[in-house]
Amino acid sequence: MSEARSDCIFCNIVQGKTDTVFLFENENLVVFRDIHPHAPVHLLIVPRRHIRSINDVGEEDREILSEAIWVGREMARMEKVDRSGYKLLYNVERGGGQVIFHLHMHLLGGWKR
Ligand code: AMP
Ligand code: ZN
Repeated sequence: MSEARSDCIFCNIVQGKTDTVFLFENENLVVFRDIHPHAPVHLLIVPRRHIRSINDVGEEDREILSEAIWVGREMARMEKVDRSGYKLLYNVERGGGQVIFHLHMHLLGGWKR
């Protein structure tokens, strides 16, 4: 489940095989801008491990969920949308709007109030 997949765009991105710019990275997660933003600030917080969706997060990986929220909150501060407000969002499977089947959390914000 968590083997890197050469046919997975996000595996290629997190391994640094593309020219995607990381706003943050550590051993577990990377953060980059969504290529088709749905908000003035639209970032993706992406675990390095290939996990298909929220449904597939195993016991051994559960800490990635709290770390993603923690990093998302930090990125909201860095992007200066923390006080105005933002969304942290997972799309889960096709019916939930997921189109890339490598776990990722959206950070959306920066709308005019
Ligand atoms: P989801 O619908 O939750 O699977 O969201 C996938 C998101 O990935 C979409 O918002 C896409 O715009 C975004 N996306 C797809 N390819 C790339 C890419 N190469 N770099 C950055 N974002 C991407
Ligand atoms: Zn992947």
